[in-house]
Amino acid sequence: MIKVIDPGLKSWIDVKEYCDFPIQNIPFGIFKTPGGHARVATRIGDTIIDLNALAKHGFLGDLDIDPVIFSSEILNPLMVLGKPICRALRNRIADIFEKSNVSLRDHPEIQRKILFPLNAVQMLMPVQVGDYTDFYSSIEHATNVGIMFRDPANALLPNWRHLPVGYHGRSSSIVVSGTNIHRPKGQTKAVTAEVPEFGPSKQVDFELEIAFVTCKKTKLGQSVSTADAEDHVFGLALFNDLSARDIQAWEYVPLGPFLAKNFGSVVSPWIVTLDALEPFRVPGPKQEPAVLAYLHAEGAHNFDIQLDVLIKPERQEEHQVCHSNYKYMYWNLAQQLAHQTVNGCNINVGDLYGSGTISGPTPDSFGSMLEIAWKGTRPVKMPDGTERKFINDNDTIIMRGYSIKDNLRIGFGEVSTKILPALP
Ligand code: CA
Repeated sequence: MIKVIDPGLKSWIDVKEYCDFPIQNIPFGIFKTPGGHARVATRIGDTIIDLNALAKHGFLGDLDIDPVIFSSEILNPLMVLGKPICRALRNRIADIFEKSNVSLRDHPEIQRKILFPLNAVQMLMPVQVGDYTDFYSSIEHATNVGIMFRDPANALLPNWRHLPVGYHGRSSSIVVSGTNIHRPKGQTKAVTAEVPEFGPSKQVDFELEIAFVTCKKTKLGQSVSTADAEDHVFGLALFNDLSARDIQAWEYVPLGPFLAKNFGSVVSPWIVTLDALEPFRVPGPKQEPAVLAYLHAEGAHNFDIQLDVLIKPERQEEHQVCHSNYKYMYWNLAQQLAHQTVNGCNINVGDLYGSGTISGPTPDSFGSMLEIAWKGTRPVKMPDGTERKFINDNDTIIMRGYSIKDNLRIGFGEVSTKILPALP
């Protein structure tokens, strides 16, 4: 079974230069047209391909996939089929849309029922998220936070290099790109204040993350090895784990993040498969000291994915505040999943795992405003003359991600959300 679609393949669908969605990508998402129902799609260029309609017209007939799966309003029933079947589906789609294949290319009357321009559809939440784990796996991010809040000489806590630190989050507040989020209210306490106060957070922040989604369940008691971990990973998406730093600072002791983290986390609409990202696989940073045997991962499990964060104030141009890369992750996704399950914790199809904020080594690659503005001491100058220490009301946060190698670009598109004023 072919994992990587031929990098030289061209589609008869127009794909512009710098597009994230060439015929080699073939991600999966859920969309609807005005008045229509939600269903499964993929995308080439700026064209949405309705897989439900493609199946109805007989193009996917012999793939051993129940066509009802393509009329589902979530990807979970497709993901559960497993990687070999999804791989066959991606290969078939690549074949149908390859430029010399006339079966659909020369039939505009059928195309009208299957293909939709991007701007004529609405993208929906791609996955019904079961459980949600948020890791803390960027050494640069963990070091920065340690320097700011604890002890610059001992920025990393003693456990950090021995295990991928994480916590269980809340799945109900994970929403798709384009969903706007009200500034959260909560308890905060200024360092100098005697008692806490209640009101809108003054320190709403983004966290630049990549999430992976699982496609295979395990039984309670079973563990997943690092060698088998990627069989359980359907694909990746961009993930903005919105955080209220002032609420977090007051509430997190001793049990960790709670209401500072569950007022909205935003995921991009397309799940890009690990197969599509295969050409961009790279080794991770050297792990020192050596990890315990169950965390040892043979081979390269990091991916070279360039990541940008931009802030767009109301009626203003977007302004880039971060350029980072997923390849900086100290703990990779195979180690994260092995650690998640090492105690026998079971996982399900549709679980979502956030990488943790992805900061790089230089200040322009820090993945949160907390770090970029260094706890408010280095405000970001915006093109309109205003400053940002955190996110203002009516700012839109945009994250983009893409891999480039040898003229092949595979990307995620973007994840975008506007911070609205707090509700009364
Ligand atoms: Ca996070």
